[in-house]
Amino acid sequence: MTNPTEGQCGLCKQRRPLFDSRSEWGDVPARLCTGCWSRYAVARERGEFVDWADAFDNASDSQLEAGLRGHR
Ligand SMILES: [Zn+2]
Repeated sequence: MTNPTEGQCGLCKQRRPLFDSRSEWGDVPARLCTGCWSRYAVARERGEFVDWADAFDNASDSQLEAGLRGHR
């Protein structure tokens, strides 16, 4: 376990202690604060995405279609 270093979070852009994101999450910011890190962890656990930018970067076409249907 490495100690977090402070810097700008890749998602919320706030200056906070940062943790490395996980490679299995796909195309996500490399470094995230605890709050945003948890958002990705929870979203991926559910097979979801944290926001539209995340979905467009990481969802397959069928996942995007399912997401659009789910957001009706
Ligand atoms: Zn953040």
